[in-house]
Amino acid sequence: MKTHPLYLNGEFVMGEAATPVVNPATGEVIAQMSTTSRPRVAQALADAHAAFPSWRQLAGKVRGEWLLKIAIEVERRREEIARIITTENGKPFAQSAAEVTMSIDHLRWFAEEARRAYGRVVPNWVDTKRNWVIKSPVGVVGAISPWNFPLVLAVRKAAPALAAGCPVVLKPARQTPLCAVAFAECAHAAGLPKGVFQLVQGVAAEIGAEFLQNPLCRKITFTGSTEVGQTLIRGAAERVKPLSLELGGQAPCLVFEDSDLDKAIEGVLLAKFRNTGQSCIAANRIYVQRAIYDTFLEHFTARVKALKVGDGFEPDVAIGPLIDEAAVAKASQHVEDAVKRGARLLCGGRRLANRSGFFFEPAVLADVSADALCSCEETFGPIAPVSSFDTEAEAIARANASDFGLSAYAFTRDLSRAFRLMESLEAGTIGLNDGVPTATQAPFGGVKMSGWGRELGQEGMESFLETKHVSIGLA
Ligand code: NAP
Repeated sequence: MKTHPLYLNGEFVMGEAATPVVNPATGEVIAQMSTTSRPRVAQALADAHAAFPSWRQLAGKVRGEWLLKIAIEVERRREEIARIITTENGKPFAQSAAEVTMSIDHLRWFAEEARRAYGRVVPNWVDTKRNWVIKSPVGVVGAISPWNFPLVLAVRKAAPALAAGCPVVLKPARQTPLCAVAFAECAHAAGLPKGVFQLVQGVAAEIGAEFLQNPLCRKITFTGSTEVGQTLIRGAAERVKPLSLELGGQAPCLVFEDSDLDKAIEGVLLAKFRNTGQSCIAANRIYVQRAIYDTFLEHFTARVKALKVGDGFEPDVAIGPLIDEAAVAKASQHVEDAVKRGARLLCGGRRLANRSGFFFEPAVLADVSADALCSCEETFGPIAPVSSFDTEAEAIARANASDFGLSAYAFTRDLSRAFRLMESLEAGTIGLNDGVPTATQAPFGGVKMSGWGRELGQEGMESFLETKHVSIGLA
């Protein structure tokens, strides 16, 4: 069985130990990923720091050309990398291919953005001075990424940081390190200078602690659970380390009686079941206006029953396996709890019988109570909890009755209502008649306990730039 290397200071290096990588469609170990100890992570940060002066000093356009070279290399290996994603994450192959496409788009966008780290000249306040605002890269970035979109969420950090002039040390999720190795190979093939991008793996808490406590690491960018985000916030206090945090979501999805029902159902299916429900922006709570509630449930359930469950490499599969045994246990618990509290299970909701791997049949639950676990917690699985509402005000109040605010969805054809919704829903991203509201050129991030800062868009590179005011006295 192959053991995959780390990428340290321009070289692929075997670690001192290794951890297994499992195919969630079979439950079998398919490879080993090298891991290393905390002192080697400290060395990676030192090597990144050594690479910083020459990387930051390049013109943004030149850094952008490196990113374009990486994009071309990822493009050349598109199919192979998509296969890696499906093998280690389980998602249907078409969705893995879409993830690679989105990653290439991110690389191309930030290759262009690298030219645009604009400062500004502000009007002087006395005639003997001039005032300039300039942007400088923050320095070495420690990036930590999750398993659910293993390539694109790592690229979403590395590309803007590199564009801004910051070297990056990436720690991917333990379940899905292999597409990060492939990305490191692309960076290497593109000829990226040594130390500018590195890949580490090991005990997450130790790597996190090194990023937090090592003064050479100047910024941490993290995507993952709110619990780990809170740990990082606590740890950041000691050195006042800047953090960008993309954390959990618990998205509400409102379907109004004036919506185009067929389009709304397709939108809700995407918002709920893409990536087998394992998306931070997945619709977690679906509220349907009473006049169309029964019709919605009937048509929606029919569509969910038709979703093919299976290995992501099988044709027409829409629902792959969950990531691991714990995810299956959580999904089962959420269904059982909702039913115990009075919900009707209209389809699915069980582990797929007679099959190895972590498969769970997509479920529709109706009349779900507000205190059910699936109404209060991020399910991260293929379970659609539906309940009814009467008025727009009630829908907005229920949508906002959450500590989280990453994304929200609404389906309506009433223009005035659409404006009221976009202004009042408490979320960083709102999909209005849109079940997949992410775009490379638009900011992405959460409010409330869903995180700090924004990735993508113009804001994406801003996270890796310091703003300096230079006051110039004239002779
Ligand atoms: P997780 O347990 O927080 O893991 C995410 C990453 O953090 C992994 O690389 C993990 O490493 C690492 N990690 C774990 N403990 C750490 C520690 N003490 N210090 C530093 N790093 C640590 O989250 P997950 O279960 O993989 O991902 C699911 C969560 O991510 C969901 O809540 C989801 O909503 C959220 N998410 C948010 C976004 C967004 O953009 N807002 C996007 C995707 C996912 P190991 O794998 O080695 O443990």
